[in-house]
Amino acid sequence: MTAVLEAQNLTKNFPVRGRFALRRSTVHAVQDVSIGLAAGTVTAVVGESGSGKSTLARMLAQLIRPTGGDVLLNGNPVSRANRAYRREVQLVLQDPFSSLNPVHTIRYHLARPLRIHGFPADTAAISELLDRVALSPAERFIDKYPHELSGGQRQRVAIARALAVRPEVLIADEPVSMLDVSIRLGILNLLADLRDNDGLAILYVTHDIASARYLADTIVVMYAGQLVESGPAPQVTDSPAHPYTQLLLRAAPDPERTEPVTELAGRGAPPSLIRPPSGCRFHPRCPSAMDICRTTTPEPLPIDDAHTASCWLYQ
Ligand code: SF4
Repeated sequence: MTAVLEAQNLTKNFPVRGRFALRRSTVHAVQDVSIGLAAGTVTAVVGESGSGKSTLARMLAQLIRPTGGDVLLNGNPVSRANRAYRREVQLVLQDPFSSLNPVHTIRYHLARPLRIHGFPADTAAISELLDRVALSPAERFIDKYPHELSGGQRQRVAIARALAVRPEVLIADEPVSMLDVSIRLGILNLLADLRDNDGLAILYVTHDIASARYLADTIVVMYAGQLVESGPAPQVTDSPAHPYTQLLLRAAPDPERTEPVTELAGRGAPPSLIRPPSGCRFHPRCPSAMDICRTTTPEPLPIDDAHTASCWLYQ
C-alpha cells in the first residue's frame, strides 16, 4: 500500500540545561523511526509516557522539526509546513477542553478554518461538518460555547474542525485518554468511520494497547524513543514478539480479569532519555535479557509477513 504520509528515519534530540543550568544535556526523544500511513487505514503508535510517540506525532504534524530523517507527503519530502501541508495533515489533541477557545461558539470554531482555506463557511457547511461527527441535529450545537458541551462532544467538535479543511491525514494524539470510559468507544468508532467511509489515513497515538487493538490496522510499539515492534494489529496483539509488547498486553485492561497486573510497573520505570541504556534500551526491565542485549542494539528482525521486532531473541 502506498503511504500518504511517511516518516523516514526520524530522529529528535532536545537540548536541555542540567541542574543549576551548569551543563547542557541532550534528550534523545526519538531515534531513527520509520513508519508509513496509507489511505483508509489506522496506524496506532503505542507506548508508555516518555516513549517518544507524541514527539513522533508532532514531527509528522510539522509542529517540531526533526533533528534527522525526512517527512514525505505523497512521496515528496517536506522541509517545513506550508499552507498546503497544514491543510492535508490535521492534528487532534488529547485535551478537548484546551483545544477550543471558550469565548467562541462552535459556529466560529468551524467557520474559521473553512474561511481560511477558501471553502464556504455558511450554516449549511457547518451543519454538514457537525453531522459528520454525529453531532445532530446541528442546530442543537452550532451556537453553543465549548463549556456547554460534554468532553466527548467537544472532542467531536475538535475532529470536525480538523475535517473542515478536507485533509488526507488525521493525527490523533491520545484523543480519548481524557474522556470517560463510557464515551471513549464513540470517538474510536467515529475515527473508524472516517477511515472506512472517507478514506483518511489516521495516526492514532495511545498508551492503551487495548484501544489500539480495537481500532488499528497496524500497530507500532515504541519504547524509550525507539520502534521495537510493528505489524498488522492482529499479529502484534495475538502473537506479540517483543518482551515489552508482551508486558504491555498483560498490563492492558481485561474485563475478564479481576486482579490488576502490575508486572510492567514492578520492573521499574522507563529509562532516562538523557543517558539511555546501552544496547537494547529495554534490557534493564526485560525478563529475557541476555549479555548481548546490554551492549548491542538489535535491528528490526522479521517475525512473519510485515511483522518485525527489534529483539535478540529472534536472531
Ligand atoms: Fe529483552 Fe534482549 Fe530482546 Fe531487549 S533484545 S527485549 S533485552 S531479549
